[in-house]
Amino acid sequence: MQTTILKGKAVSSKIKEDLTDKVKHLKSSDIIPGLAAIIVGNNPASQLYVSSKAKTFKKMNCFSEIFKLDNDIKQNKIIDFINKLNKNDKFHGILLQLPLPGHLDENELLNAIDPIKDVDGFHPVNLGLLMQGNPNFIPCTPLGCIKILDHYKIKTEKKHVVVVGRSNIVGKPIASLLSQNCNYGNATVTLCHSRTNDLSQFTKQADILIAAVGVPNLIKKNMIKEGATIIDVGINRIEDKNKEKGYRIVGDVDFQDLLGYANAITPVPGGAGVMTVTMLLSNTIESALKYQKKLEIK
Ligand code: NAP
Repeated sequence: MQTTILKGKAVSSKIKEDLTDKVKHLKSSDIIPGLAAIIVGNNPASQLYVSSKAKTFKKMNCFSEIFKLDNDIKQNKIIDFINKLNKNDKFHGILLQLPLPGHLDENELLNAIDPIKDVDGFHPVNLGLLMQGNPNFIPCTPLGCIKILDHYKIKTEKKHVVVVGRSNIVGKPIASLLSQNCNYGNATVTLCHSRTNDLSQFTKQADILIAAVGVPNLIKKNMIKEGATIIDVGINRIEDKNKEKGYRIVGDVDFQDLLGYANAITPVPGGAGVMTVTMLLSNTIESALKYQKKLEIK
């Protein structure tokens, strides 16, 4: 079987083309979509993610500002800071880069972001709207996965989708979206996690398998049905002495093992990961468009 490689770049480029027109439209009202990215402490991976997001925004003529806060900053200081950003019209989106240092209450901080600026879609109001089937901001990684399926014309209706991983930012929202009665939904969804008894028993039933686990190469050929479509969300570093950096990035799925057996698969890197930043950009531009509409009504 010829396995189709579901490259994120092709999807992302098409979406960015459409977004360029929206940015121009906003510019005609002197609005530049703006993102405030808050990073607490010195986590190198977080710094890399935030600066890559900033680069994408710049390339698309959007504005972003990175706010680096001290590792030992107090919870209430961050809440005060977020409240200021909530009131600042320059920013249509606010993101708090995760993970946070251990002394901070992640949920309380995410809840402090005004839901209308919550472009990561992690606020309970936005997660609640998503559950109701009336989403405002859809979290970027699940949204990116749906855009990949849509771009490559992989239908979800009547399919059995198995999601491995139940995090609030990936597994749970994507399982909810795909089970809803909407264009990209109408699938029958099984949600697996670390306490699932005999994972293979479920993954073998998947027409579409979505892996968001954080375990390198967990999903092997003998765990899937021949001809299944695989979306690999995992981004894991594994040691590789042949690489200059001493490591390489792999997904949660054993890509090489599945080639010629799966119908289609996203590569890592170059698949779902590419889409996350693009969807952050998209959510921020949509937020700026809502802001523009509000100004017009006034
Ligand atoms: P997470 O919060 O750590 O959640 C991992 C989930 O996987 C949990 O629900 C856990 O179950 C489950 N799990 C762990 N080991 C398992 C096993 N052996 N069998 C079955 N389930 C297992 O992770 P996350 O934030 O969702 O991220 C998952 C992966 O996606 C990571 O590699 C991360 O780097 C990557 N990621 C990529 C993007 C992107 O832009 N593409 C964005 C976010 C995350 P329990 O709930 O029972 O603990």
